[in-house]
Amino acid sequence: MAEFEVNLLRQLPAVATVLATMEAAPLVERHGRAVTTDAIRQVIDEARQVLRVAPVAAPSAADLALRAGELLATRMPGLRPLFNLTGTVLHTNLGRAVFAEAAIEAAVEAMRHAVALEFDLTDGVRGERDDHVRALLCELTGAEDATVVNNNAAAVLLCLNTFALGRDAVVSRGELIEIGGAFRMPDIMARAGARMVEVGTTNRTHAADYRNAMGAHTGLVLKVHTSNYRIQGFTAEVGARELVAITDAAGVPLLNDLGSGSLVDLSAYGLVKEPTVREAVEQGARLVTFSGDKLLGGPQAGFIVGDSTLIEQINRNPMKRALRVDKVRLAAIEATLNLYRDPDRLAERLPTLRFLARDRAAIEAQAHRLLPAVAERLGEIFTVEVGDCLSQVGSGALPLDTLASVALVVRPQGSQQALEHLAASLRALSRPIVGRIADGVLRLDLRCLDEADETPFLEALSELDLGDLIADSP
Ligand SMILES: *Cc1c(COP(=O)(O)O)cnc(C)c1O
Repeated sequence: MAEFEVNLLRQLPAVATVLATMEAAPLVERHGRAVTTDAIRQVIDEARQVLRVAPVAAPSAADLALRAGELLATRMPGLRPLFNLTGTVLHTNLGRAVFAEAAIEAAVEAMRHAVALEFDLTDGVRGERDDHVRALLCELTGAEDATVVNNNAAAVLLCLNTFALGRDAVVSRGELIEIGGAFRMPDIMARAGARMVEVGTTNRTHAADYRNAMGAHTGLVLKVHTSNYRIQGFTAEVGARELVAITDAAGVPLLNDLGSGSLVDLSAYGLVKEPTVREAVEQGARLVTFSGDKLLGGPQAGFIVGDSTLIEQINRNPMKRALRVDKVRLAAIEATLNLYRDPDRLAERLPTLRFLARDRAAIEAQAHRLLPAVAERLGEIFTVEVGDCLSQVGSGALPLDTLASVALVVRPQGSQQALEHLAASLRALSRPIVGRIADGVLRLDLRCLDEADETPFLEALSELDLGDLIADSP
């Protein structure tokens, strides 16, 4: 190492010196001593690397403290709020349903205070945690009884394990679904300890296929809503009602896994109809499972509704204890379900339904409102215009049905790389903006941008630093 380098390195302040500066004081106050010290160490290391290759002046202790402050400011929480402008309303990777205000308030209260989770306030004795939502679920679905677990995957797993452990679980080959995130029906069956018995073929399954496969070893028959794909053409499936006649005659429970399921008829909101839970119960399946955070619009949860005797058996399974939900989610579930008791105001109060039912013309008006500010912000290297796009429901619900929507369409004037760079810069904002790149443009679908979020959106955008991009552009 050359003499000058050694001397320069010696001029670098020590960690303790930087920590003692006036500039470091607010950092210690805000982030704590340990975290601030780590950040100071990191910026000193970085300064050392620079001095090794370039004989510049060593930074002062105050400079280093300021750099540590910048470093700490870039460490934003991973789960900070973002703008979902992907056009997918229930985006699994973005946390699916946004909670209703009533659910948020209920969850916050349950977090802050003790609640009667498993305590009967009338008699002062031990209560059941599911009781808070059981009556609501029964009222809204027409089922006799109900229970709640971590998610719908857990609901299916628990039903299989309760009724088909060491026994046969019968399912049509046309319904052996894979949902994103490694939920594959054959694997779930294996882990639940059930022997999978496949019947029929990919495109056609008949009543006789089920009858022939059932016997003394059958623990459960499964009907799975093929939520994220469709089989078209020369097809046949056995409807739930017909299947119930077969399973009831054999004394075997039928589980109808609806996946998303819905508690209301979506066609009333101008959407394509998804089977409702009430219909599935009416069709006679002994057990029906569905998700809390898909079309229902609540927190992640899995619901099992059906016959009391079966639900009791499920609740006695020790696995139920491992899959149960906590007080915070139960409070949010209870509040969400309560909104369904007032269908007239549901679309206004439940964000999922509000987004799905949003009128195209309203989104277009919003796009024109935002266009001038967005165009001004990006105008130097991009053109921004209002354009048609198609939103999706997401989470496997109604996969083939799209919703006419409107987006701010961002087109690069120069290279396609600039567009990728822009998308990355938008993701790096303190409140990230996530759109969708396709066909050489970035679309910001405004379907999920509430009017109240317009100002925060423009504020987030004003943070955008296009400096590098402008330097890069031809
Ligand atoms: C989504 C889905 C599941 C899994 O539900 P999660 O709540 O995501 O665990 C299971 N079955 C079907 C048919 C589904 O659509």
